[in-house]
Amino acid sequence: MVGRQPAHLRQRAGRRHEPGPGQALGRYVGLRGSRVRQRHQRGRPAVHGRLPGEREGLRDGQRWALGVQPAHRQLAVRRSVDPAGGGDRSRSRPPAHRQPAALRSPEPRHRRWRRQRLVPEAAVLPARAPRRAHRSALRPSRPIGTPDPRALTTTPDVVVVGGGHNGLVAACYLARAGVDVLVLEALDGPGGGSRTAETVPGYRFDLHSVAHNMINMTDIPAELDLAGAGLVYQEMDPFSVAVHADGRRVRFYRSIDATVASIAEADPVEAAAYRAFMDKAVPVVRTILPALRGQMSAREIPERLGALVGSFRHRPAETARDLLGPYDSLLRRWLPSDLTRGPVAAFAAHAASGPGLPGGSLYAFWQAAYHMFGQWHARGGAQSLVDALVTRLGSLGGELRCGAPVARIEAPNGAVTAVVTEEGERIPTRAVITAIDPKTALLGLLDPPLGGRVGADLAATRRGNVVQALVHVAADRLPPYPGARPGDWNGLQSYVDHLDDLVAAWAAAEAGRLPDPLPLYAFTTSAIDSSLAPPGHHTVYLACPAAPATVEGGWDTRRPELVDRVLATVEERAPGFSAGIQGVHAWTPDLMESTERWPGGHPMHLDLALDQLGPFRPTKALGRHRTPVGGLYVSGAGTNPSGGISASPGRRAAKALLADRW
Ligand SMILES: Cc1cc2nc3c(=O)[nH]c(=O)nc-3n(C[C@H](O)[C@H](O)[C@H](O)COP(=O)(O)OP(=O)(O)OC[C@H]3O[C@@H](n4cnc5c(N)ncnc54)[C@H](O)[C@@H]3O)c2cc1C
Repeated sequence: MVGRQPAHLRQRAGRRHEPGPGQALGRYVGLRGSRVRQRHQRGRPAVHGRLPGEREGLRDGQRWALGVQPAHRQLAVRRSVDPAGGGDRSRSRPPAHRQPAALRSPEPRHRRWRRQRLVPEAAVLPARAPRRAHRSALRPSRPIGTPDPRALTTTPDVVVVGGGHNGLVAACYLARAGVDVLVLEALDGPGGGSRTAETVPGYRFDLHSVAHNMINMTDIPAELDLAGAGLVYQEMDPFSVAVHADGRRVRFYRSIDATVASIAEADPVEAAAYRAFMDKAVPVVRTILPALRGQMSAREIPERLGALVGSFRHRPAETARDLLGPYDSLLRRWLPSDLTRGPVAAFAAHAASGPGLPGGSLYAFWQAAYHMFGQWHARGGAQSLVDALVTRLGSLGGELRCGAPVARIEAPNGAVTAVVTEEGERIPTRAVITAIDPKTALLGLLDPPLGGRVGADLAATRRGNVVQALVHVAADRLPPYPGARPGDWNGLQSYVDHLDDLVAAWAAAEAGRLPDPLPLYAFTTSAIDSSLAPPGHHTVYLACPAAPATVEGGWDTRRPELVDRVLATVEERAPGFSAGIQGVHAWTPDLMESTERWPGGHPMHLDLALDQLGPFRPTKALGRHRTPVGGLYVSGAGTNPSGGISASPGRRAAKALLADRW
């Protein structure tokens, strides 16, 4: 029907897909809800599959025994290898020794916290509640007001608040270690910023993340055998193409040589400068990589950076300046023109950091990471990562409950005792990992809220007004860029012509104005993944990395303007694209805020500034995921090492908890 209408009407028809406030949520919830139910009805075995290395009996440097216990208990038994060579000493879990609260000494909270981590395992483990005999990877949400019978009989060892990818990763690591873990997710489906949905009927779009690069720089997918749970990553090469309005093109391939050759087609001088910039950037990325994988302590940072500066013997002072400054000036120093400055800056901005941010040069140096590790799309969309995690969690005996927003984390005497859902269900537990915005978790949900110096430091962390806005466009064609070559739609397509435009856009968005011109980038993943759109049709994901969270006039009134300007920008660079539009869906920061529970629509939960990264994220005191509250751990995009789809905060938080108590 839409296809037979004149072009201008088709566009209007498409706009009918644009949601009013709350509509996007309603439609999405319906979709996910039915899918969740289907999965539940299909059923999953209580425990199946083992991780690589288990059969050999080795994991995390320890020997694991798969004995004669019932399957769901097997992972709870472990053997430690006697370093003196005395053979394996099997041990099951020790008995309970927890004192009643009334008998506990009135120690200051921070000392109890330290003591709890230092006391040997046998002295702090309470009796284990019996593990559930039957589990499912996903339970459908109960009708509101229906009491949950399990709440009366079971007590999970650990509750994870938030079923985004980090919460699920944390839960998988806990379940793998034999811990009885329950994930509570507010929405009717898991995934948070890693979801894919038919925002236009028949076309599957990523709701947020598209490129899963950081997780592919870690060994987490292999450790959890996510490929065995159905996850397939496809490389997007070239990872980026600069689509300048004047018709010039630069293709950034995984290979630096191929990239330099592509730049040289337009400007040989610029090509040589790009190679020199990469010569500088590759060692920088190698140095900071451990921090971004969550493997560097705060103490190591000065030493490592000092070694890096020293390694550039000829120009150590310039190197120090390059590292400390913003990427605006870094790129102006290293790259001669906007031919490459514009797209490199657009890629840096894609990491949610502005061109003027002190220390933000890191994000422009990060360009080298794509040459080193590539850019990756999860086949089927970002949701496939989440589906694989849910499958793995189910196979390890963990549990996910959706439609269960947590309203309160009770810690009356300085230690966690229970979580309470918005429906009023109280779930007793002895440990909680929060995998949501850390400020909401520790200053909002925690009862009583985190106080003292640690609480004040957390309250002082920042998130700016600059976030992302999206327009999903379903079309019967890819954007027909003049002079396009095969592969041009594989990765990110940058529409940022000038670094100055990005600088101006950031300032405008921070002040609550819609930038003009709009900096934009596109992903057309249907070009490499036929599962996302009907045959011959495509998903065109258009993102503005400098959108104001709060905009003058409000998003309800500005949303149509955003859509018009985004479509006009594509049409300018790809004449004839608008004629093929089948449907449009706008996904603005206000909708993300209300749906995803992201304060300020901020998908990284906190700004990715240098003082809020790695071991300083969210604060130095909380950078090891432990809190002053007994049994409470913090994870998610706002924690060490960073936001985005990295999974490292999830693994780190689980490991911190396991090191302390299991
Ligand atoms: C437009 C856009 C594009 C992006 N592109 C990329 C990209 O290409 N690559 C990349 O790496 N990153 C990208 N990101 C960022 C990425 O999506 C997020 O940083 C990431 O999803 C954060 O993951 P998380 O698991 O820590 O938290 P979230 O994804 O925020 O998950 C938290 C979960 O907790 C749930 N929750 C919240 N409150 C409660 C509560 N009280 N009780 C129970 N559950 C609760 C939420 O519903 C959610 O499911 C993008 C973001 C946006 C907005």
